[in-house]
Amino acid sequence: MKASAPSEHSVGSVNAAEIERLLESVKDPEIPVISIRELGVLRGVKVENGAVEVTITPTYSGCPAMDFMRMEVERTLKQAGIGNFQVKQVLSPAWTTDWISDSGRKKLLDFGIAPPPHSADIRALKGGSPAIACPHCGSTETEMLSQFGSTACKALYRCKACKEPFDLFKCH
Ligand SMILES: [Zn+2]
Repeated sequence: MKASAPSEHSVGSVNAAEIERLLESVKDPEIPVISIRELGVLRGVKVENGAVEVTITPTYSGCPAMDFMRMEVERTLKQAGIGNFQVKQVLSPAWTTDWISDSGRKKLLDFGIAPPPHSADIRALKGGSPAIACPHCGSTETEMLSQFGSTACKALYRCKACKEPFDLFKCH
C-alpha cells in the first residue's frame, strides 16, 4: 500500500482511482442514472508519467450514445484541469450485458427499465428467450411488443400482470 493520494488534479499528482471517481459523473445519455463505469463502458484508467489514458468499449458498434459519452469523458477531464490525456476506444473483447455492474442493474430497475439477462442464462436456454421480469411489479408474465423501444438499445415490453409497458435494456 502506498501513502494516501493527493486530492488535487494537477498533472503529475493524478492517480487512476481519482480519475475513475471523476468519471463516475459521466452517465449514459439515454439512462441518466447509470454511469459509464456501471454500464461497463469504462474499461480502465491508466496514469503514466502524468499522462492519462482512458479506455472505453462501446456497447455496440454504431451506438449513437458512444460519441456523447466519449465527449463527456473528455469534457470532464478538461474541466478537472487534466490536459494530458487520451481516450482510447477498444473493441475487443466486445462489450456484453454481463459488464453492467450489480449497482447498475439495480439503477436500471429503479429507473423502470428491465436489466438485460446474463448471457449465461441466455445460453442455457439454447435460443429461447429468458423470462423478463416487469420492473414495476416483478411479474415475469411479460410480452415483447417491439424489438425497438424508445431507443435502439431497448426493446419494448408490456407486463400482463400490471399492464404497464416498460423498456428492456438489450444492447448486446
Ligand atoms: Zn408489472
